[in-house]
Amino acid sequence: MKFTPTVLTEEEERLRDDVREFLAAELPPDFRPGLGMGAGANREFSKKLAARGWLGMAVPKEYGGQARTAVDRFIVTEELLSRGAPLGAHFVADRQTAPTIMKFGTEEQRRYFVPKITAGELAFSLGMSEPDSGSDLSSVRTAGTKVEGGWLLNGTKVWTSGAHQNDYFAVLCRTSPFDGDRHNGLSQLIVDLRAEGVTVNPIPFLDGGHHFNEVVLKDVFVPDDRVLGELGSGWMQVTSELAYERSGPDRFLSTFGLLKYFLAEHEPSSLSSEQQRVVGQITARYWTIRQLSLSIARTIDEGGAPAIEAALVKDIGTKFEQQTIALIRDVVDIELDPHQGSMFELLLAEATLSGPSFTLRGGTTEVLRSVASKGLAK
Ligand SMILES: Cc1cc2nc3c(=O)[nH]c(=O)nc-3n(C[C@H](O)[C@H](O)[C@H](O)COP(=O)(O)OP(=O)(O)OC[C@H]3O[C@@H](n4cnc5c(N)ncnc54)[C@H](O)[C@@H]3O)c2cc1C
Repeated sequence: MKFTPTVLTEEEERLRDDVREFLAAELPPDFRPGLGMGAGANREFSKKLAARGWLGMAVPKEYGGQARTAVDRFIVTEELLSRGAPLGAHFVADRQTAPTIMKFGTEEQRRYFVPKITAGELAFSLGMSEPDSGSDLSSVRTAGTKVEGGWLLNGTKVWTSGAHQNDYFAVLCRTSPFDGDRHNGLSQLIVDLRAEGVTVNPIPFLDGGHHFNEVVLKDVFVPDDRVLGELGSGWMQVTSELAYERSGPDRFLSTFGLLKYFLAEHEPSSLSSEQQRVVGQITARYWTIRQLSLSIARTIDEGGAPAIEAALVKDIGTKFEQQTIALIRDVVDIELDPHQGSMFELLLAEATLSGPSFTLRGGTTEVLRSVASKGLAK
């Protein structure tokens, strides 16, 4: 395991300044920030980012990308998340669907889907979890049956974030019978969320909001050309894809708005010594975790594959996001109400309700520790 210290170059700092300027101009003064990936979805906003060349940053130019670096993408993402910007319409497709299609998809899929993703025109969800398969993904029961020209898909996916708003989702399913090894015979199919036979049922979040869903698939026809990558290689592909989900700024900035608005709404000179201690503690940890995450992006640009480091940063980062809520709640005397209060109070109420999910989504803490320890033991 290795984390090499790194800092932004002058050119990278200029990119950061450009993004800050853009956000200052685009987000209205009465803008209601969101918490990390839970911030709202706004397709027009995503299209404006695309027009600036800030989606698909690491995708080759011939597929609509910018052929830039993982660090450049880190910079844009960090700025969007720390402002609580509405990135929901492009986030999943930009972070993991486009790279997965680029890596495993057919040329036709690359040319059809990727330019639309990098233009902010297509939104994707992830169809991995099922009622009885979460951490243990290889036990998925959703199955495709071969028919003329394609597959008939049957099964149920759960916790499918954004399925009610998005266009497609990549579904992990079984396409050949169990042969003694559960990792064999799994495939990923790209499924149109508006196709006949797809039913999207909301699952209310703790705060009553509509973020994720149950998606029921009943005899959904998926053409052969929507099999993502090699038939039977689904397990290898999703585990590779999950690495894109970990270690980015989305795994430590979800509660940044709390600190920001706490400071905005409290005169520095009026902070108690306890409050000052908490601000110092949170700031120091932010800086440390950010450096670890940035180091991973730099390593990727240098050709490395820091999967163990990524799993550890997600573990440390998401635990820290939860600690931030607890630390701040300890030094304020507020009756939490998600529907009224100052911006800080609203965000604190929202964070309190959504915080438990931070260490579950994208792989639970226990599972990430298992990934990291198995990797370290090799
Ligand atoms: C906000 C949010 C958004 C999500 N969005 C999506 C989405 O868009 N698409 C999607 O497919 N999924 C999504 N998920 C699902 C998420 O990936 C799963 O919740 C997660 O993988 C855990 O699966 P599970 O809920 O079935 O829990 P389980 O796997 O049943 O785990 C329950 C508990 O057992 C522990 N555990 C399980 N296995 C082991 C083990 N081998 N060793 C030690 N401990 C273990 C876990 O750590 C956990 O504490 C989302 C979840 C959340 C909270």
